[in-house]
Amino acid sequence: MDSKNNKIDPTINFVPAKSALSWDEYFMLQAMIAAFKSKDPATKVGSVFVDKNNHQITMGYNGFVAGIDESKVPWGKDKSAPLEFQKYGYVVHSEANAILHASRSLEGATAYVTLFPCNECAKLIASSKVKEVVFLSDKHQDTESNRIAKKIFDLSGVSFRSLEFRSEILGNLTEHLQNLLTDI
Ligand SMILES: [Zn+2]
Repeated sequence: MDSKNNKIDPTINFVPAKSALSWDEYFMLQAMIAAFKSKDPATKVGSVFVDKNNHQITMGYNGFVAGIDESKVPWGKDKSAPLEFQKYGYVVHSEANAILHASRSLEGATAYVTLFPCNECAKLIASSKVKEVVFLSDKHQDTESNRIAKKIFDLSGVSFRSLEFRSEILGNLTEHLQNLLTDI
């Protein structure tokens, strides 16, 4: 053994360390960043699907049909126009996009979503055997679509819970990003 080691304080370098985020917060933040990429001027939604080992499987945000000429379809949501002239005729929701782009099974996965899924996405989530949905906002909770989504989850055994996102994370994240940029 190196005799030098005898003189070293064994606690040296054992610095208290912890992550700035829980796993829930980490993946919700990723879903929020995915939402940031959406071109929808009114509602930006993101989702991230994660396996039981906290490894990301897939992500998505709401956007027009892949490959469509986006200059030929509207982002407006005025329902006095026919569906052909509303965004709803052409938008793929974040959860649907994530599920479409998953390259492996979503069975047993947890879905982190910035907005509680609509009934159409709830169909896809439950049919994919996702086991849990964690959401940030449930602002459409009085709508029929929302009630149907919850009924689908209840009947298919998909649990769901809201996540309280600590506001101080945003300040800490901004500081972190500024530090990274300063290091360049
Ligand atoms: Zn949806």
